[in-house]
Amino acid sequence: MNHLNIAICGAGPAGLSAAIALHREGHHITIFDQFDAPKPIGSGLILQPAGLAVLEWLGLALDIRQLGAPITKLSGKSAKTGRIVLDVRYAGLGGETGLAVHRAGLFYVLHTAVKNLNIKFKMSSFIIGLDSTTLILDQGERHGPFDLIIDGLGGRSPLIKNASGPDRRRSLQYGAIWASLPWPGAPFDDQALEQRYEAASVMIGVLPIGKRFPGDNHHAAFFWSLKSADYTQWQAEGLDRWKSHVAQLWPETQPLLNTILSADQMTMARYDHHTLSLPFGDSLVFIGDSAHSTSPQLGQGANMALLDVMALTGALKTASTLQQALHNYAAARRWHVRLYQAMSAIFTPFYQSDSQILPMLRDYLVAGASMVPSSQKLLANLVAGKLMLK
Ligand SMILES: Cc1cc2nc3c(=O)[nH]c(=O)nc-3n(C[C@H](O)[C@H](O)[C@H](O)COP(=O)(O)OP(=O)(O)OC[C@H]3O[C@@H](n4cnc5c(N)ncnc54)[C@H](O)[C@@H]3O)c2cc1C
Repeated sequence: MNHLNIAICGAGPAGLSAAIALHREGHHITIFDQFDAPKPIGSGLILQPAGLAVLEWLGLALDIRQLGAPITKLSGKSAKTGRIVLDVRYAGLGGETGLAVHRAGLFYVLHTAVKNLNIKFKMSSFIIGLDSTTLILDQGERHGPFDLIIDGLGGRSPLIKNASGPDRRRSLQYGAIWASLPWPGAPFDDQALEQRYEAASVMIGVLPIGKRFPGDNHHAAFFWSLKSADYTQWQAEGLDRWKSHVAQLWPETQPLLNTILSADQMTMARYDHHTLSLPFGDSLVFIGDSAHSTSPQLGQGANMALLDVMALTGALKTASTLQQALHNYAAARRWHVRLYQAMSAIFTPFYQSDSQILPMLRDYLVAGASMVPSSQKLLANLVAGKLMLK
């Protein structure tokens, strides 16, 4: 089990970190991705303490900390009344914080490590399926056989149908449009995710995400909640009306809005909620969003991908057969994944939905919870990704 010939499908956070961890264990790794040149997808994300511990284990925590922005709180207010509707502080976690990163920054650190380790990387490889342990690409090209195929192709992976168990999936009504923009400075807090809400149908967010590479300037992720079905209409309406609506709700965002000159700068992110009941098949295993994806309301996706990698590496190291290792991996991740998938499903409609009642309940509960130190600590541990972690 020490020298398996492993194909890693997908060079997102899951695939790249798996390549580094498993190469270190002596396995022979080949990474496949559809892109023609190495590049990340999307804007920014928060790495939580649980995920940062995995980067520490990979020896990459220092590199990523040099690019990212430490996050000490997540705060949200009603745009109309200024009332606090989201209040999570990391202060109760003994000095630990989140780390918000530009996706390009996370990619830079992981991809540089992959290059330095001389791990084989096949780009322009669009995977469409499997023939037993051989990968099939869109031009009919085939690669394999491999001892193990690791699926890190994200939430819409074409390999999910090869899992041993059913895939419970639903598309979420709300997604968001996102952009990475120059960091605007004060009055925005450079250590906080800040959000503004109107009920649960409007959500605006500003997150400091640091640098894409050493020597770069600081950036902000800027996002606006939008139903997937309304995206075409949003594009057709032009930017002016939308920008004045945002500025009216949150006047301080004007410097950010001034840097948005084309609708193409805002990327639509659509969310699916899905969890594989058995995240493996025959000589096949799922990590990251291909195993479980959800709305980013709790900010756990990349975190969970990193935890999957650590669990899979440990399972391959200690089991005596591949099938046993895959079962052990699934067992090690089961309850943490289930808890966070359930909590994301519960929390999301309080912040992204057409409901009038849920946001009222949210405002009432959050105001109460902010006053109670034990519930603050529980919330911080939830967001840190630490509940139900073995
Ligand atoms: C708007 C938004 C905000 C988010 N915020 C957070 C946050 O704050 N914290 C957090 O932890 N998570 C967050 N997430 C979730 C996080 O981005 C994902 O969980 C994470 O990227 C999953 O990593 P992955 O490697 O599994 O998949 P991905 O990042 O989706 O990577 C998949 C890779 O596979 C490649 N690929 C896909 N299909 C094919 C194919 N058929 N053939 C070949 N290659 C293919 C892609 O090019 C890509 O490189 C957020 C997500 C979104 C959309």
